[in-house]
Amino acid sequence: MKRRQFIRFGAAVGALSVVKPSQATNIVAQSYQGKAKGPIVLSTWNHGLAANEGAWAVLQKGGSALDAVEKGVMVTEADLTNRSVGVGGRPDRDGHVTLDACIMSGDSRCGSVAFLEGIAHPINVARAVMERTQHVMLVGAGARKFALEQGFATAKMPIDEVKKDYEKWRKENKDLFKKPDINHENHDTIGMIAMDAQGQLAGACTTSGWAYKMHGRVGDSPIIGAGLFVDDEVGAATATGLGEAIVRVAGSHTVVELMRQGYTPFDACKEACMRIVRKHKDLTGLQCGFIALDKEGNYGAYSIYAGFNFALRNNDGEALVDAKFDRNW
Ligand code: ASP
Repeated sequence: MKRRQFIRFGAAVGALSVVKPSQATNIVAQSYQGKAKGPIVLSTWNHGLAANEGAWAVLQKGGSALDAVEKGVMVTEADLTNRSVGVGGRPDRDGHVTLDACIMSGDSRCGSVAFLEGIAHPINVARAVMERTQHVMLVGAGARKFALEQGFATAKMPIDEVKKDYEKWRKENKDLFKKPDINHENHDTIGMIAMDAQGQLAGACTTSGWAYKMHGRVGDSPIIGAGLFVDDEVGAATATGLGEAIVRVAGSHTVVELMRQGYTPFDACKEACMRIVRKHKDLTGLQCGFIALDKEGNYGAYSIYAGFNFALRNNDGEALVDAKFDRNW
């Protein structure tokens, strides 16, 4: 692992104690909520550490939150070892890698692509939908046509190693309607939210979705209000986990609207999770997690089950933080 300063956030307000990089993977941070001064970026899961570095390179130079989140999640999209985002992602049941992504700035501009095949950086296409079209969302062949017209790079997917895994999975799984297992291997979107030095907010979310999903399935990640929502008046939130459950409660929008009503980011994330819990009789495998940031720099995270963590970067350093959760597996 590269040398970098890791920090451990103490309870509630982020009292800092530096831990050595060698301990980084063992960090069990005590705080799932805190407050930061100045620019900040938060991302889902441990791949968020590398993504945050990409975002931080923009933020520390005074760049915009929008540029930061786009650059940040591109790091994950390009990571060939990542099996749930971008080029290294796992395919659907028919062997197609279909990508979902969205981006939103705090002034409510947003763009999204879904069911997009063969494009290296779906987040760039989502941003182009936002900035170069009258629309918010393009899907499938139309999204790909637009991406090619705009000159975005293509990539061959699935990559060979992933194709081999898929072929093995196909042999072993005759019942294609069986609910796939949900674990960190097959279900880890990157959602990123950031505030820049000017206090502006933005977010991005990108994924190859639920591994071995039905062909045509789209989850929460590219849906504005479900996988991501940002409003400069209030704050930003993004989600990971079982997209179907997150869509049902318009998860990220719910988190932001709860913050508007006075909930802290942590309490808002928790209530969104509890709403999902209340709406589902069968919680087997139903992992969902949210991270949120308000316009004052308060942040928080919550997940239904143990195991969800998020990466945080600000002027003080970076941390990998365990979200608070409701139940153990
Ligand atoms: N939410 C994503 C989806 O359902 C996957 C994940 O975050 O794990 O496609």
